[in-house]
Amino acid sequence: MDLSLYIHIPYCDSKCPYCDFNSHAVRRWPEARYVGALRRELEHAAARPEWRARVGTIFFGGGTPSLFSPRSIASLLETVAAAWTVDEAAEVTIETNPGTVDRAKLAGFREAGVNRISFGVQSFDDDLLVTLGRIHDGATAVRAVGDAQAAGFDDVNVDLIFAVPGQTVAGWRRDLDRAIALGTTHVSAYNLTFEEGTAFHAMRARGELRQLPEDVEVEMYEATGSALASAGFARYEISNYAKPGRQCRHNLAYWRLHPYLGVGAGAHSFAPDLRLRASNERGPEKYMTGVERRGDARATSEDLSASQLQGEFAFLGLRCLDGINASEFATRFGTSLTAAFPQCEAMRERGLLEETGGRWCLSRRGLMVADEVFATFV
Ligand code: SF4
Repeated sequence: MDLSLYIHIPYCDSKCPYCDFNSHAVRRWPEARYVGALRRELEHAAARPEWRARVGTIFFGGGTPSLFSPRSIASLLETVAAAWTVDEAAEVTIETNPGTVDRAKLAGFREAGVNRISFGVQSFDDDLLVTLGRIHDGATAVRAVGDAQAAGFDDVNVDLIFAVPGQTVAGWRRDLDRAIALGTTHVSAYNLTFEEGTAFHAMRARGELRQLPEDVEVEMYEATGSALASAGFARYEISNYAKPGRQCRHNLAYWRLHPYLGVGAGAHSFAPDLRLRASNERGPEKYMTGVERRGDARATSEDLSASQLQGEFAFLGLRCLDGINASEFATRFGTSLTAAFPQCEAMRERGLLEETGGRWCLSRRGLMVADEVFATFV
């Protein structure tokens, strides 16, 4: 199995009020020092037997990786290429905030070896973008996507958010149509959640922000599927839609429980053969100091039990529309899926799961209550 590499850049221009990622709003970021730490951690990890495999995907995530210069991104890719064998057709993605790039910078990322770009657009509606605390407006997002395409990016994802207070179903349809009209190849459509610790969570608790009614959210959810399907996008995961052959291979590796190494502040790693899951220090300063002193900044390390791994294989696999392959489960775990999870049969009877040719997947009804189904596997 190929290895997937995740490289976390934790800095942002400002903190969006709904965001619970490990991201830190700063005026200036210690780019040279942080890149130095990433390079050192990459070299340190490459020497370890658990991460010796061909690299199939690389993903710069954040935070806002596009705050960094193309030179920094190129130097990280050079470090990876020097330490690992990288698949010639490796997918290399960078998450990009439209408000942080121009055409020259995008061309620089492409030249550095990035071949897939993911824009955190969220909406093209300027009022909603203000509600969401974003630093860009709709016109900037449109221009950034066009500039990326002009710079040679064929694989372009746009992230959108629905069920934002103040949003209408018609407005959401306009956002979807806009994303489609730009010639994107992938759309991630997330419904807004109010995570504890975020500004939105506190505002809702104080009555300053009203969540949209559930029936409106369901209407938006259904509009997503039909608008994207009629434009040639197939839904392949709960929130992800792609043109043929344009699925995100990096995220598929997570959902299929393949090995991944995460470097950077707060990044997680997973080595299935060793049943190992680990994470780094979350704070950028602690992370950099740890790596500078000893080559890594590991904060937690967990030995997973066989049943934990089986549960993760099942519920992560069910996130994908093509579901879980029962014979792959049996090969990986030495027991059958239905013996490990007798609830599969009960959920099939309730119409939440379907089984065809040895693959188990969520039914149309199951997709509507996916979290309830997943909870039974953990
Ligand atoms: S730009 Fe992205 S990572 Fe940064 S605060 Fe906003 S949502 Fe979070």
